[in-house]
Amino acid sequence: MSTFRALIAEGTADRYLTQLKDLPSDALPQGEVLIEVVYSSLNYKDALAVTGRGKIIRRFPMVCGIDLSGRVIATESGAFGVGDEVIVAGHGLGETHWGGFSQRARVRADAAVRLPAGLDLKQAMAIGTAGFTAMLSLIALENHGVGPGDREVVVTGAAGGVGSIAVALLAVHGYSVAASTGRPGTHAYLRALGANTIVDRADLARKSPSLAPERWSAGIDTVGGETLASVIASTASYGAVAACGLAGSAELSTTVFPFILRNVALLGINSVHPPALLRARAWERLALDAFVRRLETIARVEPLSRIEDLCQSILDGQIRGRVVIDVNG
Ligand code: NDP
Repeated sequence: MSTFRALIAEGTADRYLTQLKDLPSDALPQGEVLIEVVYSSLNYKDALAVTGRGKIIRRFPMVCGIDLSGRVIATESGAFGVGDEVIVAGHGLGETHWGGFSQRARVRADAAVRLPAGLDLKQAMAIGTAGFTAMLSLIALENHGVGPGDREVVVTGAAGGVGSIAVALLAVHGYSVAASTGRPGTHAYLRALGANTIVDRADLARKSPSLAPERWSAGIDTVGGETLASVIASTASYGAVAACGLAGSAELSTTVFPFILRNVALLGINSVHPPALLRARAWERLALDAFVRRLETIARVEPLSRIEDLCQSILDGQIRGRVVIDVNG
């Protein structure tokens, strides 16, 4: 293929234009692994980058898309062979290195992960960065000592990408889940994923005292702001909250009381540069059969040609679950 189609952002950080273009193959950046991309996925961060609403792109021109799955078609690395199926997520994809909204990608060998047994390329992107982040959140809670118990674990932004996968993962691992959403139309969906209780988003969004009655054993928060503060305030002694998103706000206002009186831990989650062992372990665990079956409920496939509309929809809070992007569509 002498040219490939990609969504490219051209301009400067202050003013740029994104459009689908046919690019010459020799325009691809340096890297040891050349990949025929099959799927990418839609993440909130992609929408911030594509619309210019967030300062995500660090170099121009940049091919957008923070994750991808595909097949190796050439390699200078002993770690992979031609034909291997791989996932690339994080590692600056779509920020500092050309990304996944593209029919071709060339990346450093250490950015790619071999597709775990039990997942196909579409399922890998149904999970994508959002699902990987949900898994990192679950691992962080487990490392803190949280396990299935009598109290529920709350997930905020539950009908979104990270949230939906967090609900399904917690449920298959035996946790009781309280799913917080602002969309009544998603209640049946969230129950189908395994949520036991639905919490109205507005209940958590209003200002709460920094200590409130203990309600959850732990939380996975994708929203930030007052919602994160409320979740911390209602987390039981020795519990923990994994903070992984800012869909509502990047602010956090609380006091030290939940931490020093209840021993509650606030755990930060960053999916971009996790240590290699943690990354491999998280992807292996995402291949769990019972969870993979729920991906059919969570994800749908859309063509790359619709990407700009889809980015607007995710920013408007209109996307339910996950969207896999067919880069040939
Ligand atoms: P989605 O848009 O799919 O999900 C976000 C959800 O948050 C929405 O579906 C909605 O859930 C809820 N929400 C949206 N706006 C508001 C608001 N104003 N107030 C309260 N709730 C709101 O995005 P993703 O799942 O892709 O990402 C979620 C967050 O996680 C983003 O902030 C993203 O940047 C972050 N993220 C962080 C990563 C990391 O490495 N730390 C990696 C991946 C994502 P509902 O309709 O159910 O109320």
